[in-house]
Amino acid sequence: MSQLFGAIEAGGTKFICGVGTGPGDIRVESRFPTTTPAETMAQVNTFFREQESIHGPLAAIGISAFGPIDPHPQSPTFGYITTTPKLVWQNAPIVPMVREHFDLPIGFDTDVNGAALGEQRWGAAQGLDTFVYLTIGTGIGGGAMVGGKLVHGLMHPEMGHMYVPHDWERDPFPGVCPFHGDCLEGLANGPALEARWQRKGETFPPDHEAWLLEAHYIALGLVNIITILSPQRIILGGGVMGSPHIFPLIHREVRHLIKGYIQMPQMDADIAGYIVPPALGNQAGLLGSIALAQQALESSL
Ligand code: ZN
Repeated sequence: MSQLFGAIEAGGTKFICGVGTGPGDIRVESRFPTTTPAETMAQVNTFFREQESIHGPLAAIGISAFGPIDPHPQSPTFGYITTTPKLVWQNAPIVPMVREHFDLPIGFDTDVNGAALGEQRWGAAQGLDTFVYLTIGTGIGGGAMVGGKLVHGLMHPEMGHMYVPHDWERDPFPGVCPFHGDCLEGLANGPALEARWQRKGETFPPDHEAWLLEAHYIALGLVNIITILSPQRIILGGGVMGSPHIFPLIHREVRHLIKGYIQMPQMDADIAGYIVPPALGNQAGLLGSIALAQQALESSL
């Protein structure tokens, strides 16, 4: 019988919790607003207690979280959300708050590393060992797997906050990142798109200039990622990428910016199979957390 896992997708506005074994078998799902750590984590723990009484014991729990986080198991603050601008969640020990109630292996990583792992196990990155998952929505964040391992290092990648060339004449918008202004996230996240053009994202027609500029910034970020990590594929998720007509614009712009320097079919005729949408759709977050739970169980054996 397949082992049952608990999954937590810890977001800045809501927590989504679920119980299941993998794709096609998420048995239950519940959402709570992200209020205070004490209140929200109490709801999480109650949810898992109830589900264990219905479905049987969990083998492990996986948590993919908004960040920044401390993902290092040897660190005294492992499992904490660290310097988030959401003040009540600064230094919130979310893994210890689950472990108090569940003496189980607990996998913990960024939401984008979780999504990357889920896509590798069941989605658009199957068979690959070096690839990137980038989300472009309210924020921009990237998860990376290199040589079969999710990248952590000093902390974890924060690809959304890379600087990209900003042509102030073409685009006088200063950017919305509270830390950097015109980093990639500041220029190209959903709030920047709406603030620059003073209209809601879903109201842009497909031929609006906003998409050309958006594709330009995303492509600049992708070329940096391609030249640094040499990923075998890049998966683009998040709310802004829900507008499918932006993919061909990004493909064209990446080819243009690479300027023939990387002589691979993926940079040319095969680029539509190289920069792709996620395969797990709206279950990517929970499935990513289940993948983190599985990984934690495997490494505890
Ligand atoms: Zn920034």
